[in-house]
Amino acid sequence: MVPQRICTQIVDENKSFNKDIPQFMRQVNLADAGFNYHVVAVLGSQSTGKSTLLNQLFGTTFDVMDAGKRQQTTKGIWLSKAQESPILVMDVEGTDGRERGDDQDFERKSALFSIATSEVIIVNMWEHQVGLYQGSNMVLLKTVLEVHLQLFHAKKERSLLQFVIRDYIGTTSMENLSETIKTDLMNVWSSLAKPPGLESSKITDFFDLGFTGLPHKILCSEAFDTAVDSLRTRFANNDAPDYVFDPSYHKRIPADGFSLYTREIWETIENNKDLDLPTQQQLLAQYRCDEIIAEAMEPFTKACNILQSEFLPGNICENLPIRMQEMFDQVMKDYDRQAKRYNNAIYEKKKQELLRSVDTSLYVFFQAQLNALQKELVSSFMKTAENFPCNRPFKELAAKEIEKSKTRMQEEAQSLMIANIDWDSKQFLLKLSEELESSCNSVCKQKLSSKITEMRTTLETRVAESLEIALQKPNLKVWDGLLDELLTNQKQATDEITRLFPLFMDSTEPELNQSYIHDFKKDSWIAFRKKVALEMSDVLLQQRLRMFFEETFRYDSDGMPKLFKKSGTLDRDYRDSVTKTLELIQVLSCIKYSDGRIPELGIDVKEIDSSFSTPTEFLTILNRKRVSSTSVNLKRTADLIYLDCKRSLVSTQTR
Ligand code: GDP
Ligand code: MG
Repeated sequence: MVPQRICTQIVDENKSFNKDIPQFMRQVNLADAGFNYHVVAVLGSQSTGKSTLLNQLFGTTFDVMDAGKRQQTTKGIWLSKAQESPILVMDVEGTDGRERGDDQDFERKSALFSIATSEVIIVNMWEHQVGLYQGSNMVLLKTVLEVHLQLFHAKKERSLLQFVIRDYIGTTSMENLSETIKTDLMNVWSSLAKPPGLESSKITDFFDLGFTGLPHKILCSEAFDTAVDSLRTRFANNDAPDYVFDPSYHKRIPADGFSLYTREIWETIENNKDLDLPTQQQLLAQYRCDEIIAEAMEPFTKACNILQSEFLPGNICENLPIRMQEMFDQVMKDYDRQAKRYNNAIYEKKKQELLRSVDTSLYVFFQAQLNALQKELVSSFMKTAENFPCNRPFKELAAKEIEKSKTRMQEEAQSLMIANIDWDSKQFLLKLSEELESSCNSVCKQKLSSKITEMRTTLETRVAESLEIALQKPNLKVWDGLLDELLTNQKQATDEITRLFPLFMDSTEPELNQSYIHDFKKDSWIAFRKKVALEMSDVLLQQRLRMFFEETFRYDSDGMPKLFKKSGTLDRDYRDSVTKTLELIQVLSCIKYSDGRIPELGIDVKEIDSSFSTPTEFLTILNRKRVSSTSVNLKRTADLIYLDCKRSLVSTQTR
């Protein structure tokens, strides 16, 4: 049975989908074709011979506008089947969008439908339309491709855009024509709003492109027929080298599902509110505003680069606010001058886009300037703080200085805010505060520490001097005075620390104060102990003990040298002096009061050395071994002195 030459509306003039498509599929014997069928559609301006071409190519019977009457054919998307091949052919009938704005909606939706459902889309155009943005379907393609990408990119389908150039004369090579079209397409594609993730996609990621020229149907009818015949082979003969239906184009929908599938696509297109397709005017505005933005951005970007090159890292750019303002004003003026003439909504929308990119570019400088300023403010704060007088509450002076710096930062940030742009300077202020606060703390700590060091040095020098003097001529109560002096000095110093502390430190940190006092005590005890040990080296000790012995033995209480007349007195004085000197060794061996009290250290000796378990261990200068060896040595020296005296006594008596 020869299938009937049926032609039906798959979508009618009221935009409703034909529920009888399954029946149509049966009538054209495709219901059981499985995957063994193809879909082709045609796009293009009105009256460019689309229906004529389809009819001759596929043996279909789409309505052709009568050359004489120029009457309108019925609107809708028409569906038919190729005469001798399992090819479903779709023809779109509409009014010309350029003449009747209200029908653009249908024109675009049907174009979108064709692209979404067909393996091959014939884009029909006159040769003289090539390269004309307005006249060459590019405007239509831009919108349709944009929405197509939005709605259907997830399907990851490919199809062929087969451009057919009508009334092709042949003076311009097909190669040149196709280059022109390709360039236009690339431009269209790059200006599309793309879904996230597809920003850098290319048109060839989704479409293959084909180009064919057809001679004038009426003036060169034979050539036209031949060209159509050879084009037909490419559609019908799957052995043909340039067979158009690449398997990758097939939507993999079995023929019995075709109706449901295409209906769903139509509904998606129809129901998608986002689709709100723009009018011709808006499209033009979009296109031109994009171009104007690109033009305006060019000198702006140059100015940014120049500014960038002058912006040495860490430096503050003196006239930055003025320059940024100038750059901003200029780019906006450039845009406004040309773009204002176009559709207002689009003009405003694109202006926001421009503002966003200008904002991003200028923000870099805002950020760099404030960072540089922060560094400068912190370092100048440090310098000022170093020179603060130490007798005034340091913290208060610092707080005033910090406030000044913050105000300066705020003013700078304010001066950099250009009309319409509201940058957040809070984070910069916060960071500055933190930096200043921590610099202030470190200056405070350092100041306090150096004060304390100064005090410690004074104390140590003073105590060391007293120690030297006292130990040069030690007596049995030698430690009493030295300990009193040390403790008095310690007390004075720690009182001073307590007084200074709140000037430099947060008075809410009493533990810190205690730790400074504690360390001070510890350090001064260690220094004291060290100086004592130094003054009691073996040589010095022997020398001083000998001196002590001699003084008690040979001189009377008035400091006059004794003249021993009797041997008995000599022996008694000798024994007394030895006893006293040995007693002195005992006294010197450990730092404590003459009444036996151990001085209050005010710290735990374990902190000085973990091997100490009592203060006495720390305060002991001569251990038992040294005491005994020192005593033996002293005895020996004393004996020699005694013998010397004895000898001179005997010699005077015998004389
Ligand atoms: P459609 O609106 O794009 O489908 O165009 P039609 O197929 O209805 O044809 C519109 C008019 O163009 C008719 O009068 C055709 O005779 C005429 N026509 C068809 N093919 C050609 C062609 O190749 N060249 C020229 N110049 N006219 C053609
Ligand atoms: Mg037609």
